[in-house]
Amino acid sequence: MKLVTFLLPGDVPATGVVVDDGIVRIAKHIADAPADMTGLIEAWPSFSERVRQLASNTRADIALDEVTLLAPVLRPPKILGIGLNYADHLAESGMAKPADQLWFAKMSTSAAGPFATIELPRVSEQLDYEAELAFVIGKRCRHVSRERARDVIFGYCAANDVSVRDWQLRTSQFTLGKSFDTHAPFGPWIVTPDEIADPHELGIRCFVNGHKRQDSNTRELIFDCFDQIEHLSKVMTLEPGDVILSGTPGGVGVAYTPPRWLRAGDRVRVEIDGIGAIENVVRAESDHIIHQ
Ligand code: MG
Repeated sequence: MKLVTFLLPGDVPATGVVVDDGIVRIAKHIADAPADMTGLIEAWPSFSERVRQLASNTRADIALDEVTLLAPVLRPPKILGIGLNYADHLAESGMAKPADQLWFAKMSTSAAGPFATIELPRVSEQLDYEAELAFVIGKRCRHVSRERARDVIFGYCAANDVSVRDWQLRTSQFTLGKSFDTHAPFGPWIVTPDEIADPHELGIRCFVNGHKRQDSNTRELIFDCFDQIEHLSKVMTLEPGDVILSGTPGGVGVAYTPPRWLRAGDRVRVEIDGIGAIENVVRAESDHIIHQ
């Protein structure tokens, strides 16, 4: 199944399941379903079968191209990213191989829709892209073994770990440079694991203005998604709706000589086989843009 969050007329967010070229609005057909994606994920054992039936035997309520898709989880409880997790990206970074998994936070206010604007910050011109496979946590959990990790993944998305390199690299902590508003676009939907035979065998690509910049496969991950869950859940409770960005392959803008920063007007596309694509246009930061 592909689950979406989208805007209804009147700018009211709703959840839906994708069928053919349209969306079935879940709350229209299942009156007691939670209104938002985090609630739906939390209550998934009670609703999954009914949503699955909607997906298989209900006609679309609205066409996909008539709605604005929002971040599938509007305000994830946590957004976490792992750094230097593909060998070619590690090599191009010029940084030493981390002794352990290298984690940073992206604040929940960086979440953005799959086709939303990416802001070029007022305070930097070093704006960069990172195509990544993201996964959404489905169950509250702690101390999850690698062998059980598959059970706590609700689904998968395409994501862009947008990065402001000077803010990221001028201190020992990446968090500020990773946390600008709008710098975690993801989606276009959450694909449930039954549609992903192996999350570690997916082609992943990034294009800027139609030119391919990154082209790899999730089989090249150094620490795979299950390793990541085992590691993170040693430290913190993972919760329904948490979004985890699993790392980016080589080809980011900072690695070029000279660097190829994103500029206003650039169009950045991240696509992952079996999931779909997100596409975001860069605009100068403005007081007047409302982001979802
Ligand atoms: Mg990244």
